Amino acid sequence: MQANQAPVRRVVIAGGGTAGWMAAAALSKTMGRILDITLVESEEIGTVGVGEATIPSMLTFHKLLELNEAEFMAATSATFKLGISFENWRNVGEHYIHSFGSTGTDHWTAGFQHFWLKGRARGLAADYGDYCRELKAAQLDRFAHLPDDGMNYAYHLDAGRYARYLRKFSEALGVKRIEGKIVDVAAAGGQIMALTLDHGARIEGDLFIDCSGFRSLLLGQTLGVEYEDWSHWLFCDSALAVQTESTGAVPPYTRAIAHHGGWQWRIPLQSRVGNGLVYSSRYMDDEEAQRTLMSNLAGEPLMQPRPIRFKPGQRRQSWRGNCVAIGLSSGFLEPIESTSIHLIQRNLIRLLQMFPSQGICQTDIDEYNQQASQEIAHIRDFIILHYNVTNRRDSQFWRDASALELPASLRHRIQHFRETARVFRVPNELFVENSWIQVMLGQGIVPERYHQIADLMGDAELRHFLDSIRHGVESLARRLPQHKDYISRYCRAVS
Ligand code: FAD
Repeated sequence: MQANQAPVRRVVIAGGGTAGWMAAAALSKTMGRILDITLVESEEIGTVGVGEATIPSMLTFHKLLELNEAEFMAATSATFKLGISFENWRNVGEHYIHSFGSTGTDHWTAGFQHFWLKGRARGLAADYGDYCRELKAAQLDRFAHLPDDGMNYAYHLDAGRYARYLRKFSEALGVKRIEGKIVDVAAAGGQIMALTLDHGARIEGDLFIDCSGFRSLLLGQTLGVEYEDWSHWLFCDSALAVQTESTGAVPPYTRAIAHHGGWQWRIPLQSRVGNGLVYSSRYMDDEEAQRTLMSNLAGEPLMQPRPIRFKPGQRRQSWRGNCVAIGLSSGFLEPIESTSIHLIQRNLIRLLQMFPSQGICQTDIDEYNQQASQEIAHIRDFIILHYNVTNRRDSQFWRDASALELPASLRHRIQHFRETARVFRVPNELFVENSWIQVMLGQGIVPERYHQIADLMGDAELRHFLDSIRHGVESLARRLPQHKDYISRYCRAVS
């Protein structure tokens, strides 16, 4: 069914945060020659100012844009990221790393974890992480690119600089930027017609991309698309963000340090460190949050902590009529696994695949919404896992999180792994089997059995198999340069 016969030529992007400029860059790079693209942003309103840890899929997005990596990293003060160190999540004083790499070698019938579990039962295996190249490199603060994309990594970046970098890129490809505050959004028959700015300009378009952040000016406020609230599963609804001076250490991983009513991030950039506390206002008041954050900083603060409120969840539709919401305007899951920028790029790619140049089709809208909603729901499950599976019972926050009524999909997954050590990835799901395994083991699940294929190896053969992987990983990681040295040679930040 054709929802709107008119061909789409004029695209208007409302908002110039990470989402707005990523949208402008992707659209101008791919379809800039046939589209007229305008982006409206307000310096006075500003951006959310966080969102500095990414996951490896960002490399794909940058390949589509044909960005030069070293130039992009220098411009955004970026560092490499090999994973996330989860500290105090399973028990206070314990930690594990969820790395981006694969662990060990799988057999086609059974993943490496089955062989590792048998090895552990026989006293032949070291830590699960010792069989993963990226994890070992992270522990040793080392990094290098390897041939054949042999190192899986992402970036830590300065969000403000990233938006400016993409702005320059997009403007060079013809995107028009208009400064001003949107004071009115005209709509008729479920379609957005025009934006009116505070200085009187009226901007009409065929397709509107709502990148206005939590306000969701177009999709939420104007078209009235409701918000599905997930705070019964994800308790955190507040954050305090503060930047600190660099202390000199530049670990190639994000730190996620759990506290009694939330958790704290530490994101090392070349020029400074991004810090923040994500917490639940039901379990921690703002003053206590501020004290907790400020007493756990490594370097000198460069600013006053900035409060941010949010509601975990998603809009019931991300695309309605001629309006597609991308970024925080379409929903938000807290940043524990750095998935928001990933969702921005996934939704942009999806939009480009279904781009309505010849008129907007309702079937495209339905397909888009279904895919987008499934994708965020998988990520939601993965995030809930971090809170629900824990030995911590030392505060009401952790007691309540560990007693949650889980979504059926997640309940099944946890139970399946606990009983059999098996994990299967669902189509279109972001997190691969090894991510689930690292986090499930890391949070404290001990599977009751393993696949019997592992029993076909005798002790000597299993010892050789495990040791040869571990020694290979260790010796490769030790040959890599220190992350800090590698960055200063490869992509030293421009001031
Ligand atoms: P914003 O940055 O809020 O941009 C909105 C834009 O709309 C701005 O340009 C604003 O000026 C404009 N605007 C709004 N109203 C008007 C108006 N009336 N007129 C004109 N312009 C207007 N994501 C990750 O991937 N990794 C992370 O580590 C991460 N950490 C996060 C930590 C926290 C605490 C939070 C809250 C989010 C985090 N995110 C993270 C998410 C990430 O910050 C966002 O996905 C990303 O910044 C995109 O934001 P946005 O562009 O949608 O919104």
